[in-house]
Amino acid sequence: MRYVSTRGESPPIGFAEAVLAGLAPDGGLYVPETVPDLRAELEDWAGLDYRELAFEIMRRFCDVEPEALRALIDEACADFAIPEVVRTVPVGELHVLELFHGPTLAFKDIALQFLGRLFERLLARAGRDLNILAATSGDTGSAAIAGVRGRPGIRIFVLYPRGRISPLQERQMTTVLDANVHNLAVEGTFDDCQRMLKGLLRDTALKDRLRLGAVNSVNWARILAQIVYYVHAAFEVRRRTGGPRVRFAVPTGNFGDILAGWYAQRMGLPIARLVLATNDNDILARFFRTGRYASGPVARTLSPSMDIQAASNFERYLHARFGGDPAAVRAAMATFEREGALRVPPGPDGAVDPLFTAGTADTEATLAEIRRCVEDDGYCPDPHTAVGLAVARRRLDPDEPTIALATAHPAKFPEAVARATEAPPPRHPTLERLHGMPTRATAVPADIGAVRDYLEAHIPAEGAAAQGGGP
Ligand SMILES: *Cc1c(COP(=O)(O)O)cnc(C)c1O
Repeated sequence: MRYVSTRGESPPIGFAEAVLAGLAPDGGLYVPETVPDLRAELEDWAGLDYRELAFEIMRRFCDVEPEALRALIDEACADFAIPEVVRTVPVGELHVLELFHGPTLAFKDIALQFLGRLFERLLARAGRDLNILAATSGDTGSAAIAGVRGRPGIRIFVLYPRGRISPLQERQMTTVLDANVHNLAVEGTFDDCQRMLKGLLRDTALKDRLRLGAVNSVNWARILAQIVYYVHAAFEVRRRTGGPRVRFAVPTGNFGDILAGWYAQRMGLPIARLVLATNDNDILARFFRTGRYASGPVARTLSPSMDIQAASNFERYLHARFGGDPAAVRAAMATFEREGALRVPPGPDGAVDPLFTAGTADTEATLAEIRRCVEDDGYCPDPHTAVGLAVARRRLDPDEPTIALATAHPAKFPEAVARATEAPPPRHPTLERLHGMPTRATAVPADIGAVRDYLEAHIPAEGAAAQGGGP
């Protein structure tokens, strides 16, 4: 499988190169040249467990040797608290897909436990090292760190908006003291972090000299790993309900999670609807209602991992919407950068995209949803999951069971849960252990030059790279 840039000004490359590069040199995102039609195979896969299914799906997209791929998948699943990795539980009339049983209790572990090991393998094969940049609104950072800490040949530099992620989330990152982990507390918003990340990775000379890469959901391997649970959950709920087609409700920020569902649908998985749920940062919900993608100021909400007003993965969707025409993508993205808005014409039926239905849950609706789940169903969702559940509930269809993605464990957000229910906040032993542990982070201004200086000072020259993993 070859990968092309959404902006069409970088040459097509293979899987390994696309994973190691993250963003394409032309500023675009890598997408598979073709999306395989797996309708025939899907029927045979209904009985597979999570690991076997991951192998069958991933091998269509990557050139890792089969035995090595199986080993990578097994290792990536090893640190999950439940043997089946993910599971769906009935909650009222919804089916909740729990994706938070990994080491940092967020769905991002599923992709990043895989990606960290994949990086290690690809780097050893290529005889080089990699310096990963990540921008995080909370969960990406700790999940990325958990994926690569202590791995030879890899350093990670995490930019996070100081004071805008939960104290617990911050501690999940800053208590990791491995020499290859660097936490940078940025005086700014998540969008500042993401802008600096993109700016640094777009500087090809710098990127080459410092061997920079990305783990943000711009990295194709993350999307790939996430496709698996859509397929797995659809089978599980189909067995439970007998209905041929399902809906997925996805709490959305950067459009990385729901994009994997969209790929699963294009590969032939019978998904009737993708229910896109946002918090007050509703740029994507407005887009799917109006066709206008227009950023506004970032609002702080109870679901900080979705406090985003420019969804980097949206460009992959646009590329397909424009029939794979990179010139149209370039023009649209240039308009967005210039004017803060772009427009996609609706289809013949007047809908922006009939597969997507979008809605927003504000703070009140999020709190009400947590309360309702706890009181009516005895199930406590985290605030991100609650956004998805609240929107899913307004879009129920008796013929199409809805699978709502649970993206974090509620113990990660005890304040929000306590505000909603007055019950004692949920706990989790993984988080309890962090209290009183030593931490390490470096404060930096929201200035790309300052971040560049930090990288220059902490990345050894190419020749010294052999020992990798060092400070
Ligand atoms: C990252 C995250 C999201 C949003 O996922 P996107 O891929 O950015 O749309 C939702 N919930 C939680 C808990 C997250 O960490």
